[in-house]
Amino acid sequence: MPVNVDLHTHSDQSDGVLSPLALAQRVHEYGVTMWSLTDHDELSGLPPARAAAAQLGLQFISGVEISASFCGRTVHIVGLGFDADNHDLQNGLAQIRASRLARAKLIAQSLEQLGIPDAMAGALQYVSNPRLIGRVHFAKHILQLGLCNSLQQVFDKYLGENKPAFVPMQWVSLDQAVSWIKNAGGKAVIAHPARYNYKKQQLTALFDTFKDSGGDAIEVITCSHTSDEIDKFARLALVFGFQASRGSDFHAPGASRIDIGQMPELPSYLVPVWQDWI
Ligand code: AMP
Ligand code: MN
Ligand code: MN
Ligand code: MN
Repeated sequence: MPVNVDLHTHSDQSDGVLSPLALAQRVHEYGVTMWSLTDHDELSGLPPARAAAAQLGLQFISGVEISASFCGRTVHIVGLGFDADNHDLQNGLAQIRASRLARAKLIAQSLEQLGIPDAMAGALQYVSNPRLIGRVHFAKHILQLGLCNSLQQVFDKYLGENKPAFVPMQWVSLDQAVSWIKNAGGKAVIAHPARYNYKKQQLTALFDTFKDSGGDAIEVITCSHTSDEIDKFARLALVFGFQASRGSDFHAPGASRIDIGQMPELPSYLVPVWQDWI
């Protein structure tokens, strides 16, 4: 049977919309055979996702997408195949979630100053896991108020980097995020590397630091990468000696141009991050 691997997806335990069970059903429906749920800074979806995957005959890999900082920018580190009972990882993620809540209060204040009242209550309407709040929850509230036409527009106008309701964050270091994942027996992957807008020198520094920290792989195939970006990061994976990953970064039906498991294949000359799990 051909493998169809999707190692980057979100449920309603972070900023996706489907429950872990509904997501597992969609993953199965779209022909994926090896799946990871990688919610932002949260592991609560893993047990129900794993149980649903077992019922459906899907191979399940534990996952998380950790918010980290490097050179003043947020970098997302996907952890895969770790022990989800690891205490240091669990405690670290709980700290990040606490800083998300503190940030949310500041975002709400900024939005109120911009004339959007009750922003916190509004965002909370879209939060299904009370432990995890993110910018998408605010974005959906702003969208619902009719102030913008798309989530993209809300980020461009209010919530994106350096926009009026953007709250800069000092997340955990890249090294810390990688250590938590590695010490829990997992593999560390830089998510969607084209999305950080780093200049060439910073990208090299990011990859060198990640390599030195024990990082394993970069996402070459992700739905936000153009075909030129796929080529570029495939080449960089070879140059830096990284394994390569493939994930849709699915959040909601219709939210992006490519659905679960429908992305291009990994170029055959790369070493898949999942090679030991087949
Ligand atoms: P947070 O982790 O709370 O800072 O929010 C980051 C999340 O916001 C990403 O994982 C995406 O789900 C979403 N996001 C970021 N930029 C955009 C954008 N331009 N349009 C739509 N969603 C976005
Ligand atoms: Mn997200
Ligand atoms: Mn991300
Ligand atoms: Mn993601």
